[in-house]
Amino acid sequence: MTRQNDQKPETLAARGNGFLCADTGAITPPIHPSSTFARDENYERIGQGGYSRDDNPTYTVAEALLSKLEGGAGAKLFASGMAATCAVFQALAPGDHVVVSETMYFGTPKWLREWAVRWGLEVAFVDTTDGEALAAAVKPGVTRLVYIETPANPLWSVTDIRAAADIAHGAGAVLAVDNTAASPVLTRPIEHGADLVVHSATKYLNGHSDVVAGAIVTARDDDLWERIGQLRYLAGAILGPFEAWLLLRGMRTLFVRVRQSSQSAMAIARHFDGHPKIAQVCYPGLESFPGHDIAARQMTGGFSGMLSLRVAGGGEAALNLAKRCKLFIRATSLGGVESLIEHRATIEGDDSDTPEDLLRLSIGLEEVGDLIADLEQALG
Ligand SMILES: *Cc1c(COP(=O)(O)O)cnc(C)c1O
Repeated sequence: MTRQNDQKPETLAARGNGFLCADTGAITPPIHPSSTFARDENYERIGQGGYSRDDNPTYTVAEALLSKLEGGAGAKLFASGMAATCAVFQALAPGDHVVVSETMYFGTPKWLREWAVRWGLEVAFVDTTDGEALAAAVKPGVTRLVYIETPANPLWSVTDIRAAADIAHGAGAVLAVDNTAASPVLTRPIEHGADLVVHSATKYLNGHSDVVAGAIVTARDDDLWERIGQLRYLAGAILGPFEAWLLLRGMRTLFVRVRQSSQSAMAIARHFDGHPKIAQVCYPGLESFPGHDIAARQMTGGFSGMLSLRVAGGGEAALNLAKRCKLFIRATSLGGVESLIEHRATIEGDDSDTPEDLLRLSIGLEEVGDLIADLEQALG
């Protein structure tokens, strides 16, 4: 029999990290709703847990699986992707300098501008797809963190993780990568030099649009990881045990879901590339897309189920396309089994830098011909 350590990520995921209850034979783990855990006569913990703000056996199963899928040394679940993102920055100290991708999930720069800066972090936003611009933005000995997202919402611009890691490490900083869009199925940032990996587990990891969750995975069990763990415990942005259990269940099908979504997204991108009513298809899988070569190097088995269409005719034409969709659901979020379409500029509001003509598509598991037909009829 193969030892568990030799098993491929697909196998570990499908088997929920190999859970089998020795007492009952149950092949799915139980949910432990207990907020507190008893101690023995000598006041020693009976099991691993003490109090569920610190830890809970239901989190541990999902964390252990995610850590292995990312090739990390540990993982922590958080109440949401934003709670995980913020914990990375909150683990720093006032006055610390951080460098952040200028294109990324809207909530991250919004929180940084409105909160992190007020708490004393010095934040530089740069185009991290440009290695020279990134190298010029880090201050050796002063920059503590480089934070990137790749492919990055909502233009799916690609940052070279290895190059960003070399620049960060050369300056004495750590590199954190928001890996939500790629998932560990397509990219394992730690293998490319990242120190921390952040997820909105709400998206592909859970995959069924029924949990809001976040996670951080670390490459090393070091001081920074200790601070992040303390921060979750003390600030309390924990996930409920039921959500952690649903997340584990979602991750069991992660590989087939992400691969199918990526394959369908590729077909949709190719279909609309050069279409007279589409000005541009933003998708790292297209050879003509800037950053395709880097994406091809650091992504394996696909380019994600996320793409954006820039509609010829501008904002009004884009909103009209979304309005006429019958199968695509007009909703925010991504990475679920059902395909979503979203006019990001409307959702992001006044602070938005997103082009008015852009529609973000999250490709689910419907038959791809049905999805293409829906977009075609909506284009009119
Ligand atoms: C959705 C998302 C987040 C925020 O996650 P929540 O679970 O909604 O808090 C962060 N990063 C990326 C790339 C996302 O798509």
